[in-house]
Amino acid sequence: MSKDKEKSKASRRQFLKTGAGAGIASVIAGSGLGLFAAPNSNAKSSGKKIKVLTTDGKTLEVDETLLSNPDKDYYVSREGAHQGIPGKKFIMVIDLAKCKNARKCVEACQEGHHLASDHEWMKVYLLQDADQEAPYWFPRPCFHCDNPMCVSVCPVGATYKRTDGIVLVDNERCIGCKFCMTGCPYSARQFNWYKPKSSTENIPYSPENAYPAREGTVGKCVFCADKLRLGELPRCVTACPMGVLYFGDLTEDTVTNGEETLRFSELIRDRAGYRHLEMLGTEPSVYYLPPVERQFPVERGLEGADEAIRERYKHTKTYEVTKQTRKSDE
Ligand code: SF4
Ligand code: SF4
Repeated sequence: MSKDKEKSKASRRQFLKTGAGAGIASVIAGSGLGLFAAPNSNAKSSGKKIKVLTTDGKTLEVDETLLSNPDKDYYVSREGAHQGIPGKKFIMVIDLAKCKNARKCVEACQEGHHLASDHEWMKVYLLQDADQEAPYWFPRPCFHCDNPMCVSVCPVGATYKRTDGIVLVDNERCIGCKFCMTGCPYSARQFNWYKPKSSTENIPYSPENAYPAREGTVGKCVFCADKLRLGELPRCVTACPMGVLYFGDLTEDTVTNGEETLRFSELIRDRAGYRHLEMLGTEPSVYYLPPVERQFPVERGLEGADEAIRERYKHTKTYEVTKQTRKSDE
């Protein structure tokens, strides 16, 4: 990776970090990035300014160090993980026009959550809606539905929905019955067939980071709840070199990919945003921007890919259900 690119990625991470002080609390609390930007009043000025967007559409410049996070250690107990972050309702927007299957989101998720190589909480499908239409890349995390079927079918309350919209699984309660895997219409859940990685043995378990995952239980995307506690963006959002993934708070009507901060409602209206299989009534928290005016030919997504990955996409209609449900909608 070039130095420039590394620098750019680092600044994207720092852009949203939190601290504990009060110096610019009134400014930041009223900003569109209130969630991510609690200030650190102890920090010395770096001279470098960062732009944040306020909820009334104004741009503010604040010193970078005021947004730095002095405390990287944040652990939330199993009980604590039931509590959502107060006043927040998390959402993700995925811009299909920009995705080229770089797979950095998949890798960052696997690394950050200590997943086995065949476990992909973020999965990139290759979809094609009709024979005469071009295929496109379709990243799919957990949709953190507001009406989650997985939660309603769990017999022991091991999977639950929080006030901030995040759906989590408590591996210490899960009995591995797989009802939730069957209940999820998006195949977002995977069974933990393996013992946890030895590198995670001494880490205390929390449903927010989902490791060390217990063998014989179920795992899935957690919207990087542990990162959100720190005021940081989810790992996949930060890792994407194309800025495909936007994350934010519905109550503030704002989403960001770390470089660009946008008004959520305007983005969805102007770009005809939609939710996958909306007709199921699941009310997903993840929105898609259609793959119109694509920035890359779809073939770019297979450049440099190893044989196993190429094989996976041999048949482009990987997600036939998309086509079927759209037809039934007509
Ligand atoms: S596998 Fe675990 S989380 Fe899923 S329904 Fe069964 S007990 Fe609940
Ligand atoms: S939000 Fe976090 S857990 Fe979910 S797909 Fe992205 S990196 Fe993985």
